[in-house]
Amino acid sequence: MSVRIRLMTCGWLETGLGMLFAGGEGRVRLPIPSVLIEHPKGIAVFDTGLHAELAHDTSRLRSSQELFDVHMVSDDALGAQLQRLDVDPASVNFVINSHLHFDHCGGNEALPNATLVVQQPEWQAGHMDKLIARDVYSPADFDFGQPVQLLQGEHDVFGDGSVRCIPTYGHTAGHQSLVVRTDTTEYVFCADTCYFKATLEQSVLPSFGYDLQAQAGVLDTLRGLQAAGATLIFGHDPDQWPTLGTELH
Ligand SMILES: [Zn+2]
Repeated sequence: MSVRIRLMTCGWLETGLGMLFAGGEGRVRLPIPSVLIEHPKGIAVFDTGLHAELAHDTSRLRSSQELFDVHMVSDDALGAQLQRLDVDPASVNFVINSHLHFDHCGGNEALPNATLVVQQPEWQAGHMDKLIARDVYSPADFDFGQPVQLLQGEHDVFGDGSVRCIPTYGHTAGHQSLVVRTDTTEYVFCADTCYFKATLEQSVLPSFGYDLQAQAGVLDTLRGLQAAGATLIFGHDPDQWPTLGTELH
């Protein structure tokens, strides 16, 4: 029995490239990915995209409204996407958040029976008053009272090594990436530890981050996984993402 990986695009965000790629100029449109993982032992979703409300009202972004233009329709929201794929959102067992920025956890609300799988330092940071006051995090995006499984480092989601959380702290205090192995390929969903292919190839980090030195070390880890044969899926790469289609094998 193998793992099935399907890709969903939960809208797009537009912002200044320089924020995500130091020295970059102009605007960039960022795909907002969510990944459906169907394993013989259960269903997981890795990152949940933008909150459905953002399709018609961006006020929940507070000060981040000034940084991002939202390009989203109601059908882009996670719940609608799952229904189109004939997957009942209530049947999802695990929601794995790479981290708790608004464009990675906005669809958590759509998965009422899922256990949240998140790194402990990320959960802690997401509830810190000073970070909430600065609009870095908003528990209204990610905390809907589901059970929470707090991780401290690596975690094997289904116990057979096919779906593994790996800590990639740096972009945020407790960022994690996801390694998924199919019959033929090992994929690494980098999320925001590596926005673009160019981030890795040119070693250009964003102009902001929790610990950019740690993030630079993570890029070395990703290079090692790539050298060992893994395929890296970058976090918001507008060139790579559309080439991937809707399913990975
Ligand atoms: Zn982020």
